[in-house]
Amino acid sequence: MAATPEKPTTAAPRRKVSRHRGEGQWAVGHFTPLNGNEQFKKDDDGLNVRTRIETIYSKRGFDSIDPNDLRGRMRWWGLYTQRRQGIDGGKTAILEPEELDDEYFMLRVRIDGGRLTTEQLRVIGEISQEFARGTADLTDRQNVQYHWIRIEDVPEIWERLEAVGLSTTEACGDTPRVILGSPVAGVAENEIIDGSPAIDEIHRRHIGSPEFSNLPRKFKTAISGSPQLDVAHEINDVAFVGVNHPEHGPGFDLWVGGGLSTNPKLGVRLGAWVPLDEVPDVWTGVIGIFRDYGYRRLRNRARLKFLVADWGPEKFRQILEDEYLERKLVDGPAPEQPAGTWRDHLGVHKQKDGRFYVGFAPRVGRVDGATLTKIADVAAAHGSGRLRTTAEQKMIVLDVEEAQVESLVAGLEALDLRVTPSPFRRGTMACTGIEFCKLAIVETKERGATLIDELERRIPQFDQPITININGCPNACARIQVADIGLKGQLVLDDEGNQVEGFQVHLGGALGLEAGFGRKVRGLKVTSAELPDYVERVLTRFQEERADDERFAT
Ligand code: SF4
Repeated sequence: MAATPEKPTTAAPRRKVSRHRGEGQWAVGHFTPLNGNEQFKKDDDGLNVRTRIETIYSKRGFDSIDPNDLRGRMRWWGLYTQRRQGIDGGKTAILEPEELDDEYFMLRVRIDGGRLTTEQLRVIGEISQEFARGTADLTDRQNVQYHWIRIEDVPEIWERLEAVGLSTTEACGDTPRVILGSPVAGVAENEIIDGSPAIDEIHRRHIGSPEFSNLPRKFKTAISGSPQLDVAHEINDVAFVGVNHPEHGPGFDLWVGGGLSTNPKLGVRLGAWVPLDEVPDVWTGVIGIFRDYGYRRLRNRARLKFLVADWGPEKFRQILEDEYLERKLVDGPAPEQPAGTWRDHLGVHKQKDGRFYVGFAPRVGRVDGATLTKIADVAAAHGSGRLRTTAEQKMIVLDVEEAQVESLVAGLEALDLRVTPSPFRRGTMACTGIEFCKLAIVETKERGATLIDELERRIPQFDQPITININGCPNACARIQVADIGLKGQLVLDDEGNQVEGFQVHLGGALGLEAGFGRKVRGLKVTSAELPDYVERVLTRFQEERADDERFAT
């Protein structure tokens, strides 16, 4: 194996080497790996595993895979082992992770900015049907995830994806993950600025490059020039949010240090305005700080949010300017409060060129390969060549002539994809859960779909925006902390004292300019079976007692 460099390929600022082990920050001379993850990353760059997959593992099969590749470096190419079937959530706590490994993989396709052509979507659908037993979930980071992938098929899948300009490069691992972008970038009438050129330039320069393939942990980016604040910028490591500068015009407000999971933190503004053509350089500076100064000793303190919390925004901006950009940034304004309450662009909307975009909702992001292929066909039959995925597990068809809109909507609805969904279908998200995830304690996708159907049947008159986010474990893949109703999967006791699947309830979280984390309702845990009754009671009471413009989070 070729060893990764001892130090970053672009030089970190030189600092006096501390005699203490500290937090494992490279910028202060701590290059000795302080845990197993840092060790395997030093032993060999995660990107190098591709060659072994192509030349060895795919030919010799699952048992030939080096354990450090299997549970480490394969993530650099979007591959995770999926949960062995038939193991209940109660065993998750007592089994070693390797005992939960299946011989099949989850494979994540990165879709930067959520931008797809109909041809790309067709290929994603075909791969699902040929290699993934029809699975294909839309994630809340605009990706598509397959399950049931065999290592033998991975090179062929890469070839097909890359032939249409898609990839799984750095879709997981301690890398710059998929870059979120406004799903209506370049088309929305009310857009402040189109961030797509910056997404493309960052991708061209840095994705798949060894410069940033050994970060302390994952690094999440969001870039949107939509006034609807549509990419959950508050919970990304770095975010560029569209604003109008009173002197300089449209550009981006810079945020850093957001992230959920354990110790959730909202991103903070640095008070800096960044023009479109400088976004890639500023992004490079921020990720450079993370690589060089980020904490590497403890995995649960290795996200950028901990460094930002310790430094504060003033020091972070000063280091960015002095050591990485070597110039001062321009001060700028904060984003304004969005006009609407939904961020997802569902429904029919006029584009700036006079055509229309049409957003639609499956249930909790669950689609399948056959459906994706049909969506591509329906879009193409109505004159569209472009689609987008959203950060809410939804999709949008772009560039539809007015005369075609009604027929397109009917075509989508015939696939059970709702253009005017109930608030429940619109606002409910669910993570992968126990069906495939090794960390899961409870089932989520089916539970979420059933909850939507039950609420539609029981309280059809409910008409308020509401978000219901369901996680299968204490992690935050479905963003429970920032939902109106956040449901954290765990084992709970039923009336007869038996341990059953259920949820800890968090209420009143929100994103937007009034962003905040939901309150954990002390002692409030519901079994999965009780969930529809509980949510129905909460929402009915809210509907009956709310003041005129009161929102759930307030
Ligand atoms: Fe798995 Fe937990 Fe993430 Fe859900 S929240 S996908 S169960 S790690």
